[in-house]
Amino acid sequence: MRNTKTLLLTVPVAVITALFILNIGHCGRVKSEKEEKIKKRVQAMIQTLKNYGIKSRRVLMAMEEVPRHKFIPQPYLDMQSAYGDHPCNIGHGQTISQPFIVAYMTEKMDPQPGEKILEIGTGSGYQAAVLSAMGAEVYSVEIIPELAKHAEKVLKKLGYEVAVRQGDGYQGWAEHAPYDIIIVTCAPEDMPEALVDQLKTGGRMIIPVGSTNWAQKLVVVLKTASGAKIIDDLPVRFVPMVKPD
Ligand code: SAH
Repeated sequence: MRNTKTLLLTVPVAVITALFILNIGHCGRVKSEKEEKIKKRVQAMIQTLKNYGIKSRRVLMAMEEVPRHKFIPQPYLDMQSAYGDHPCNIGHGQTISQPFIVAYMTEKMDPQPGEKILEIGTGSGYQAAVLSAMGAEVYSVEIIPELAKHAEKVLKKLGYEVAVRQGDGYQGWAEHAPYDIIIVTCAPEDMPEALVDQLKTGGRMIIPVGSTNWAQKLVVVLKTASGAKIIDDLPVRFVPMVKPD
């Protein structure tokens, strides 16, 4: 009688344990298949960047390391397209720039470990993470409160030490100025003077400037002791840098 009872109890426990183990095994396999797919997409993105002429090993390594898909808010996340060479929707009418533009601007600025960088337009936090992965000290300003909060949370969760502030990028972030580099990822109609002022002498800035989506150009500003030297670069299309009400 006692033996039958033990048997009656042991069999279901064994079955449940086996199912549990099998299920863990299944989840583990699904997880690693997903990781493999992401790895392949990252590799394809890096190859596209190389094909388009990005040469900096440090930029390519940082972009290989930073998980771009984790910066796209859940409702907009489509694994298929997170690593494609096009902008990705992040809500509030905003986008993460396409990987080529992120790589191009970063390569142009060539951030060195320990350099102080101000980014205007945090958006998802992705560009800030790439700069941080290269060892820079990064400050980033975002005007939309929800995006600033989202980016701050993701950056912290992934272990990137980036200071994010919700505010108007036209004012820069004076408390931490001067900066070695300023990267602006939204387009003002004219060059914001406060940003030029917050650059170190010898510092550099990259910024899209223009009045409409179709007539913007990327501009590099080199600040010298005798003033700012402005060099025109690629024609581009960024979201506008909005003026607060
Ligand atoms: N660098 C971002 C993409 C930026 S999209 C990334 O890696 O995801 C441009 C961002 O600039 C948007 O999030 C937009 O809200 C922000 N922006 C627009 N005008 C701004 C302003 N005046 N000050 C700060 N941020 C601004």
